Amino acid sequence: MKDTLVLKFGGTSVGSAKAIRQIIEIARRAKTEWHNVAIVVSAMSGVTDALLNGAAAAVAGDELIAEKTAAELLKKHFDALDELAPDAEEVRDFIESSLNEFVTLAHAIRVLGEASPRALDAIASLGERMSAPVVSAALRHTGIGSEGVDAREVVLTDSLFQSAVPDLDATTRNAQRVLWPLFQAGKVPVITGFIGANEQGVVTTLGRGGSDFSGAIFGVVLDADEVWIYTDVTGVMTTDPRIDPRARTIPELSFREISELAFYGAKVLHPKSIRPVVEKGITLWVKNTFAPEEAGTRIVADGLAQLGDLRAVTAFKGQSIITVEGRGMIGIPGIAARTFGAVARENTSIVMISQASSEQSICFVVPSSTADTVVKALEHEFRLELNRRDIDSIQKSGETAIITIVGAGMRTTPGLAGKIFTATGNAGVNVIAIAQGSSECSISLVVDAPDAQKAVLAVHELIVNSSPERSDEC
Ligand code: ADP
Ligand code: ASP
Ligand code: MG
Repeated sequence: MKDTLVLKFGGTSVGSAKAIRQIIEIARRAKTEWHNVAIVVSAMSGVTDALLNGAAAAVAGDELIAEKTAAELLKKHFDALDELAPDAEEVRDFIESSLNEFVTLAHAIRVLGEASPRALDAIASLGERMSAPVVSAALRHTGIGSEGVDAREVVLTDSLFQSAVPDLDATTRNAQRVLWPLFQAGKVPVITGFIGANEQGVVTTLGRGGSDFSGAIFGVVLDADEVWIYTDVTGVMTTDPRIDPRARTIPELSFREISELAFYGAKVLHPKSIRPVVEKGITLWVKNTFAPEEAGTRIVADGLAQLGDLRAVTAFKGQSIITVEGRGMIGIPGIAARTFGAVARENTSIVMISQASSEQSICFVVPSSTADTVVKALEHEFRLELNRRDIDSIQKSGETAIITIVGAGMRTTPGLAGKIFTATGNAGVNVIAIAQGSSECSISLVVDAPDAQKAVLAVHELIVNSSPERSDEC
């Protein structure tokens, strides 16, 4: 028997009684091979969105939405329970009281006319707080010893609501106290992903899609041998199969490659979930709940992956290019530092920097939702330079997408960039800016949002036609 395994199941994997039955089988099998099995779950599919949409409508003054949403969510959870654990009255009561809490919170933010990040975390966290007890009851009902665990008991975070950062030392101590006794009793803890609590016990969330990060956190604090992220597709694929159904599973990816893909929009794995496990030498797999017999994708240390020229392409939508331009910028030291400093003070991360050949302009990409704030901050920072016409303009583009192509071959194979540009050019895509990843394992192109699909399909065609080979560069 192997030691400790963490299984994380995403929204679709806990989205219905049928899906949860798959989880039960996966857990049963894992229990025969591993001493300790912990499960981390997302909210049932669509629930986090429904809760947050309900909150947004309440802020806008909608008086009816909260009750309507609560009724729909009650039905969703009760339907699953009816099939999986019809006698779990205490779970039914818990779901009812959780949804009452939602209605009360929605009422409060409607009266206030605004919702703080803290209030939104209280609301968004309810999805996982409801799904974990359902999955746990389903396991118990089939004879697998299990207990639902609220991650507020274990994951201590800072107070950066909506993007909280865990304290791994404190979380490790809490895990020893809360989770090890369950392992010792032979039980499978079913833990809420996505959430934690700050020092004051106030609920926080790790950011949208953050239950993958929770899976990684529990892998680390439980000193697991492996973390398996279960989702609704077989592993990490050459592109999002929703964009191109010809997408293939990539059997092995290096840490660098998956990091670039995840950061630039491959939703299959949350970018924050990779580093903690890889640094601790924990094996990370991405697998399919609905095809558990397929191996999926294994994430391995850099240099060990089976590599091809071009491995995967992804589109990161909802981005804007910011350009700071002016002939008077030439030779003035510190313009770049002040530009990036001003953006950082707005708490905005720069997604990509495109190096211009002269000092006449600085061009970088930020999420479109932050573009106006960033432009204002820069106008303020450079008000003197704008007055003196040393800087002529600070502009934001329309909505763009970043297309990122990953592959170790980029470093060694001449002409790959050329192939990419020929393919996008032939597809009639206008490339607005380019950046090469610092690891030379990736290249990113910025295109107008409406061209994103065309660009991905054109590059994916190259990937589908390329043959894998071994390289140890990335
Ligand atoms: P979960 O709820 O299980 O966390 P997500 O919806 O967050 O699932 O992520 C899985 C989805 O990611 C897939 O259904 C797929 O459409 C999308 N996706 C985007 N890029 C990729 C990729 N390169 N490989 C696999 N899936 C991808
Ligand atoms: N339920 C959360 C979300 O939808 C976390 C997750 O599913 O990973 O963002
Ligand atoms: Mg996800």
